[in-house]
Amino acid sequence: MQEFSDKELWRMLTLYGLNTATYKIALGQCLCNFTEADKTRVTMEMLAKEFFDLYNKRLENGMPQLSHETRLTVMEKVVAKYKGGVIGYDEAIDFVKNNAFGDVVPRFHNLDRVDIGHKFYEIIDSGIILTDSVFKVFEGAEKENLKQELDARWSLLESAFAMKRENAQLINDIKKFYLLKGYERTDITYMKDMLNGYKEGRCFYCGEMLDEDCIHVDHVIPRAFLYHDEPWNLVLSHGNCNEQKSDFLPSRYYIKKLVDRNERLIKSNHPLSQGIKAALGDTPAKRQREMFRIYDEILNAVTEKNVWGGTQDFIPEKDPFYRSMIAMVMKQ
Ligand SMILES: [Zn+2]
Repeated sequence: MQEFSDKELWRMLTLYGLNTATYKIALGQCLCNFTEADKTRVTMEMLAKEFFDLYNKRLENGMPQLSHETRLTVMEKVVAKYKGGVIGYDEAIDFVKNNAFGDVVPRFHNLDRVDIGHKFYEIIDSGIILTDSVFKVFEGAEKENLKQELDARWSLLESAFAMKRENAQLINDIKKFYLLKGYERTDITYMKDMLNGYKEGRCFYCGEMLDEDCIHVDHVIPRAFLYHDEPWNLVLSHGNCNEQKSDFLPSRYYIKKLVDRNERLIKSNHPLSQGIKAALGDTPAKRQREMFRIYDEILNAVTEKNVWGGTQDFIPEKDPFYRSMIAMVMKQ
């Protein structure tokens, strides 16, 4: 995987793959905090303290941290004991040090059980030693985006775990779940949080970095043609790009790009993936066929004037979002 940069490898490890608990994201946040504090040698005590403080604060949101419907993570148990006054702070840290890291620390560099062969820290008897790679990840202007992505992934996992617990019957009818929980809440904030982090902060149309202050949620096939807000048709874009495209039907290239975007969401176990499958079909071939069927139907009904070809200087092959997306999909 040498063709990937430190940042790309970091994103792979933290944003993709099947997570049955939130530990990996928490460890990622700890590593980020240590780079900020310029710490290279981190003892197990230091790590335990950072980990505990993080969960102690996080768990105020009351969200589940484990995919299993009824069990609790070690961290949920120890934080509850601490908050209930059963154990003191030092005892809690000691407990975390001895019980929470058995799998987490050795497996951070695995993506779906495969070691990616690139280390952000080395394990020693007394703790871990951060490598140059992890410092490279968090250097430069992209640092804040990376931190937000970790946080977004953490929230997504919590939402997915909560969905699983909330109502097993409702989950049987996943489309209904999205009708209730998704469509009615397709305000910009909701979809922005759901999609951000996976698009690596880039505009769907031009591929350039998004400006945090002005992110638009856009219907690729205009709402005027579809009359719905299904997630498979929603992307993030610049305000400008959104306005340029306006209510035009985009060219075929963007539908292909949207097909690939949706497949990436599904492969990365994004909580929206169930809704996308329910709407379009249960295999990649069915989903692609359905999307082009819808697109062609509309294309036949409109005139050439309704179609938008994209910005003039846009070259798909050079679009960084598209390239990294393809790389991702090809690996799986
Ligand atoms: Zn743009």
